[in-house]
Amino acid sequence: MKCMKCGATAQQGLTTNVTDLQDCLIIVRNLPCFKCLECNEIIYTGDVIQQLEEIIDSAKKVMQEISIIDYSKVA
Ligand SMILES: [Zn+2]
Repeated sequence: MKCMKCGATAQQGLTTNVTDLQDCLIIVRNLPCFKCLECNEIIYTGDVIQQLEEIIDSAKKVMQEISIIDYSKVA
C-alpha cells in the first residue's frame, strides 16, 4: 500500500487508536493498519474503520471514563 500523504511505501503493522470523546476516552489496541515509512501516516482499511466505529459505539454505551479495548479480541 502507498501512503496517501506522501506516496511512500506504507508497511502493515499494528497501532493503538485513541478516541477522545470529552467525557470519556476510548483506547483500542492492536489495531491493524498501514504505517508510512516516510512520514508515519497511519492508514486504515475500510473494514477496520467500520469495525472501529462499532467498537467506539458500544464503548460509548458503557460510559466508562476510560475504555481500553483489544481489537484482536473483539474483531
Ligand atoms: Zn507518507
